[in-house]
Amino acid sequence: MQSKRLLRPTWVEIDLSALEFNFRQIKKLVGIKTKVLCVVKADAYGHGMIEVSKRLAKCGADYLGVASIDEAIKLRKSGIKQPILILELIPEEHAGYIVDYNLTQALCTEKLAKNLNNYAKRKGKTARIHIKIDTGMGRLGVWHEDAIEFIKKIHQLKNIKIEGIYTHFPVADTDRFFTNHQVRYFENLIKKLKKNNIDIPLQHAANSTGVIDYRCSYLNLVRPGIMLYGIYPKESFRSKLELRPVLSFKTRVLFIKKIPKGRSVSYGRTYIAKNPTTIATLPVGYSDGYLRSLSNKAEVLIRGVRRRIAGRICMDQSLIDLDNLKNVKIGEEVVLVGKQGKEEITLEELAVLANTISYELACSIGKNSTNRFCKNT
Ligand SMILES: *Cc1c(COP(=O)(O)O)cnc(C)c1O
Repeated sequence: MQSKRLLRPTWVEIDLSALEFNFRQIKKLVGIKTKVLCVVKADAYGHGMIEVSKRLAKCGADYLGVASIDEAIKLRKSGIKQPILILELIPEEHAGYIVDYNLTQALCTEKLAKNLNNYAKRKGKTARIHIKIDTGMGRLGVWHEDAIEFIKKIHQLKNIKIEGIYTHFPVADTDRFFTNHQVRYFENLIKKLKKNNIDIPLQHAANSTGVIDYRCSYLNLVRPGIMLYGIYPKESFRSKLELRPVLSFKTRVLFIKKIPKGRSVSYGRTYIAKNPTTIATLPVGYSDGYLRSLSNKAEVLIRGVRRRIAGRICMDQSLIDLDNLKNVKIGEEVVLVGKQGKEEITLEELAVLANTISYELACSIGKNSTNRFCKNT
């Protein structure tokens, strides 16, 4: 592991024991009767899909969820045996991969169902699917009012197994009334299916916010993503349950320079020293996913205290005002996200400053990191 480190001292650390802790928190919350599908799409929100999935599989994750067929195949090729649900639709001509790699496909079109059925039939197998119901997301899925007719048709295809049915929440974090209605629509649909003698074993709706805030949405499987990574989908949830951040983002001081009063630093001259000060250059920038919108706003940890980014964040460098912090040496560790001493900088905090959401920032840092390591494997 160590030997693969790049020489440039900027890196992302993934704490797999924190991941396991968060998974166990979810299990505790939902109880033994509810299965957990761990969402590991987008390279596990930038945390590294393979390592994350292997650890989750070891802790007893019932299911994994990915966005694309490529991610699903990558997981299979890495030796993951867990069931894998592809949450996105796939181009119809790729139906064969679902059968060949023993994957589960989200489904809301007849054409894809027919392709899956035909391919499975030729191979003497069955294709597993979960029907996607739209109860208000307005994205993929069959509208809940039209679902019975649709499912009846799919049900007739002999080489398709309808293993699951699910829906998704667009405003679980902001609109309880709307979300509760979605749950009701979905439950009514399941009842109607039962009356029609169609019994679908897995029924799910809850994302992380559902898991934390809507017990009524558990059904018999939940689909947490962001909370697995120790990120709260809503700040007020912090007091409801303990989660541990999985990702840390660190670098080391590359250069130090005194700046006289009145001089500026970095592009655009947006930072002008009001007093003589000392500025440290860090080898990290927006190409590492450290968003440019954090310029002059984000704080970092050095020697256990907070110091602010000075001026614009560049492509691969940033500056911090050391502001009376004496005798800092080149090579000292700087924490961009994570803990140092008693202080901590969270992705949630930075996302607010960058005017985005923690999901996007995690993906940005994770996907752009060329130097990512797991600890506590
Ligand atoms: C991404 C995703 C999730 C996970 O959402 P979080 O808010 O990260 O918990 C669950 N279900 C579907 C369909 C998703 O696309």
